[in-house]
Amino acid sequence: MINILIAEDERAISDLIRINLVRNGYVCHCAYDGKQAADMLESTRYDLVLLDIMLPCIDGYELINYIRPMDIPVIFITAKSELSDKVKGLRLGAEDYITKPFEIVELIARVEVVLRRYKKTSAILTFGDVTVDADAHSVTKNGRLISMTAKEYELLLLFVRNPGIALFRETLFERVWGYDYIGESRTLDSHVQRIRRKLDWDDIIITVYKVGYKFDVAKLKDR
Ligand code: CA
Repeated sequence: MINILIAEDERAISDLIRINLVRNGYVCHCAYDGKQAADMLESTRYDLVLLDIMLPCIDGYELINYIRPMDIPVIFITAKSELSDKVKGLRLGAEDYITKPFEIVELIARVEVVLRRYKKTSAILTFGDVTVDADAHSVTKNGRLISMTAKEYELLLLFVRNPGIALFRETLFERVWGYDYIGESRTLDSHVQRIRRKLDWDDIIITVYKVGYKFDVAKLKDR
């Protein structure tokens, strides 16, 4: 069980982060000002802190000085996108930095990277008879190794790391093929088709009309 503290005074952003992290299996607590965050850090052992910089009472820059001796990784979340702030944040000991507005897919990915770096999470994800080993870059089904291209694997990883979330075609494209990809949008569909076929996941990776695709993890339980 991974405990995450979300220190963010904007309720809408805090809620959005919490809902999505909980959906990914994390336990989340929310603090809405710096004082509350400090009190919660005092009473509970957290594995990660998502820390807004501009917080009432005690700001993020001050709070990180308080957190650092606890050896808890911190990801700064801030509206400021200026380079100087990024440098300041990282120099102060944050593991990573994310600027608002951000895509939830990106946030989840960063949370996982930081937790993995701190050896808090397992690289092995299991869904029914399918196992994805993110360290070994391997996929097995019923214990049998499934051969996948690099792009198929990256795409699969995005799905399994964002269970139940409708992922936009644009997001999938950007994360797997890069921002400057100039190619046919059919490419995405053909990759999804191949993943479905290889894993027998026709009804598990579903098409979401006018959005893109969703890894419908709940359906696996009905099988
Ligand atoms: Ca704020």
